[in-house]
Amino acid sequence: MRIARFSTGEGVSFGVVEGDFISTVAGHPFNQIQFTGERFPLAEVRLVAPMLPSKVVAIGRNYAEHAAELGNEVPEEPLIFMKPSTSVIGPGESIAYPTSLSQRVDFEGELAVVIGRLCREVPAERVKDVIFGYTCANDVTARDLQKKDVQFTRAKGFDTFCPIGPWIETDLDPSDLALTTTVNGDVRQSGRTSQLIHDIPALVSYVSAVMTLIPGDVILTGTPAGVGPMEVGDEVSVGIEGIGTLTNKVVSRD
Ligand code: MG
Repeated sequence: MRIARFSTGEGVSFGVVEGDFISTVAGHPFNQIQFTGERFPLAEVRLVAPMLPSKVVAIGRNYAEHAAELGNEVPEEPLIFMKPSTSVIGPGESIAYPTSLSQRVDFEGELAVVIGRLCREVPAERVKDVIFGYTCANDVTARDLQKKDVQFTRAKGFDTFCPIGPWIETDLDPSDLALTTTVNGDVRQSGRTSQLIHDIPALVSYVSAVMTLIPGDVILTGTPAGVGPMEVGDEVSVGIEGIGTLTNKVVSRD
């Protein structure tokens, strides 16, 4: 099932996307889905971020070729950091380039895992029970600030630096999906999730050993090789096989 959040101009609801239509879900979609009976053509609604997570946990250097391209070793254990909930935006919304603070802002196309159940200390073999679904993400990074600062909070934490969407696919085997990032239509990243160093069960288990995960929380699984800069005016798309394509434009914040 494809779960989206959308606005008709009269408030925001969850909905189930089928073909060119979206059916409104009553309340939240985590347990038994109840429909209100309302249905809209997709073209007549505006999709927003498919989830508003309490937190976004991201994994660094989880593809060997990407670790190498930035001159980093592959970490033995997953390297985790957080992006604030206020960095999340949806499909079609603009990434605001903080031009007065950074001169190098990169795209990082990533597969995102959305948590569906309150959980902690989840064994790897039970991780599938706590996953709600999967979506596309762009782990936008101020690369110059990441190099300058001791930790990643500033580089990864600006408002709008975590586009997710366009929707959450709940029925998907995530173990070997093609992931492609384009800038103005040119392919910049082309990887497969089978290249993840630490796989999704290992990542969710690892993160849940540190912190309680709650429904809607998002885990970004790392980016393949090919990261590079975005400029004001660029249109960046992250497409993942079996999910769809997340597209955002870059505008100047200042
Ligand atoms: Mg990343």
